Amino acid sequence: MKPISGGADLHLHTTYSDGYCSPHELLERVAKIGLTAIAVTDHDEISAIPEATDLGRVKGIEVIPGVELSVNYQGQDTHLLAYCFDCENAEFLKHLSLFKNQRISRAKEIVDKLEMLGMPISFACVLKKAGEGTVGRPHIANVLLEDGFVYSFQEAFDKYLGNGKPAHVDKYKIDLTSAIKMVRAAGGVCVVAHPAIQLNHEELLQLIECGVDGIEVVHPRHTPEETECYKNLTRQHNLLATGGSDFHGIPRGGEVLGKFKVPYHVVEDIKARAGFWKTKTL
Ligand code: AMP
Ligand code: ZN
Ligand code: FE
Ligand code: FE
Repeated sequence: MKPISGGADLHLHTTYSDGYCSPHELLERVAKIGLTAIAVTDHDEISAIPEATDLGRVKGIEVIPGVELSVNYQGQDTHLLAYCFDCENAEFLKHLSLFKNQRISRAKEIVDKLEMLGMPISFACVLKKAGEGTVGRPHIANVLLEDGFVYSFQEAFDKYLGNGKPAHVDKYKIDLTSAIKMVRAAGGVCVVAHPAIQLNHEELLQLIECGVDGIEVVHPRHTPEETECYKNLTRQHNLLATGGSDFHGIPRGGEVLGKFKVPYHVVEDIKARAGFWKTKTL
């Protein structure tokens, strides 16, 4: 029997996307806090999972497969969490590698735009910041900061990189229905990430219609009223009610770790739902 006291944080980032902690550092922190289970959910990237799983085994922390996919729903940039998929599924891996390459081309386009705006940062430095993982705007923001073009990480987004700003370039996104199909084919489940950040109520209902398996109910950017509303929706539609801290590391809201979690039974609910879909797709 699993202990139920620690709870689960099902939304965590590492250096394999735009987090500041390596899988090792993350597991150290999670062990100190005493969580029972976690999911590492890097943006469009699953390379941290084997390392995190092995470390978790040593420390007695269950690590379930996770990823935060960049999804397009009717032109809207939406984040979709996927859990408990087969990490070796060929189609899934093929798509993740497409994501990775498209992110590199997009980062180059952003760097070119910044140069035209009078901020010649090095593309090699941006890629170095991303390391082995997927490259994103936060890596570019940090290079802008280091090179003295902005006074803060946030200023880089507010002035140049944010949506609609002069150096913004859209990223490659997978269409919502294709994403759901791809995750199901890999035996996993799909959960709408932090709906309060990017969706109104009507849009969230439409995503439920499209067949997502759950809603991320617990998230630092949700008000108590929003959390309650999403919880009710999951009850009404028989959906998974997940949650997590969306921890990116100490420089970016490090205090959230351990404060945004769900009971361990949610992990069992996810596995049961993934198992149900597996019986349908076999
Ligand atoms: P990307 O996936 O490259 O588009 O980068 C997205 C990440 O950048 C998000 O997950 C946030 O961590 C960060 N981000 C996006 N928009 C902003 C913003 N306006 N201010 C600060 N950080 C942002
Ligand atoms: Zn992020
Ligand atoms: Fe997100
Ligand atoms: Fe996230």
